[in-house]
Amino acid sequence: MFGLIGHLTSLDHAKTVAKRLGYDEYGDQGLEFWCSAPPQVVDEIKVTSVTGQEIRGLYVESCFLPEMLAGNRIKTAMRKVLNAMAHAQKLGINITALGGFSSIIFENFQLGQIPQVRNIQLEFQRFTTGNTHTAYIICQQVEQCSQKYGIDLSQATVTVCGASGDIGSAVCRWLTCRQHPKELLLVARSPDKLYQIQGEIGWGKVLSLAEALPQSDIVVWVASLPKGMDIDVSQLKRPCLLIDGGYPKNLSHSIEGEGIYVVNGGIVEHSLDIDWKIMDIVNMAIPTRQLFACFAESMLLEFEGWYTNFSWGRNQITVAKMEQIGQVSRKHGFRPLVG
Ligand code: NDP
Repeated sequence: MFGLIGHLTSLDHAKTVAKRLGYDEYGDQGLEFWCSAPPQVVDEIKVTSVTGQEIRGLYVESCFLPEMLAGNRIKTAMRKVLNAMAHAQKLGINITALGGFSSIIFENFQLGQIPQVRNIQLEFQRFTTGNTHTAYIICQQVEQCSQKYGIDLSQATVTVCGASGDIGSAVCRWLTCRQHPKELLLVARSPDKLYQIQGEIGWGKVLSLAEALPQSDIVVWVASLPKGMDIDVSQLKRPCLLIDGGYPKNLSHSIEGEGIYVVNGGIVEHSLDIDWKIMDIVNMAIPTRQLFACFAESMLLEFEGWYTNFSWGRNQITVAKMEQIGQVSRKHGFRPLVG
């Protein structure tokens, strides 16, 4: 059995979803309530591969909300992730994806050093961040969407916003080895970490977002922002392809306009309907088929019987592992969302 640990994007989102799922008592509550809510299994899932293989899984809502990262609620956020992991393990799930901020909190606050949750010793090999598949899918989107919107990738300037992160650094490695655009611009808040990536891949310019945006034909957004940012659209080139892999989203779709294309990054579409209801609540256009690539990674590991933390730690995703997960992604009928 596979598992998905997820969370909602804001308190408002959580209130709406709680009511929709029939948890009326959660729907009118404030952040305090969500801080004390335990993890819950809110969906049972059946996925069929195009090979005919069938697997089952559970969706565990951690009850974490990005608002908890603001102010003094870091310990609560950490507890949410650890409790959700312990819950998944107690349910006997073989491999569980840590969706959205779950893996970011796990890494940033070194939760690997806290393996004991009450009477449960966490077995980290039962978990994956799902970031290898996410990075692979984003790179496929770069290639396929640039073709769709008439951007010649070999002549393009590509910016990666969040280039020093786990997904961002993997995207930079793939761009370097497989796609080689004309220019690569590396953006994040801390230049030191960007210079490390630049040293590793052997090229790319470290710039601020304000400097990079007006030069970019394509921007990959993989910054860990608890809520979206505003950008000055008038600065952007036309055409400009913006692939937004953030969860919550880094950008708003409202900036789309003549020559500005915003694509939901890190999203896959399955060839067959998935028996679940959970993607309805995160506003996927086709909720029975579209899902986050990190969730799909745990499905792929279950299909293949690879019970291992395939994606783990930070900035260790190799091009070879992206190819490996990409191959089984295609085999089981997943494809990147293109526009
Ligand atoms: P990491 O924490 O590893 O990396 C985050 C990156 O963003 C770092 O480079 C960080 O560098 C940068 N960053 C943070 N804040 C800012 C800012 N204000 N401006 C510019 N750069 C910033 O995160 P991941 O790579 O694990 O995840 C990235 C995003 O992808 C998240 O939104 C996550 O929720 C999403 N995600 C999506 C998935 C999917 O399936 N679609 C799966 C998993 C994650 P610095 O701190 O120096 O600024």
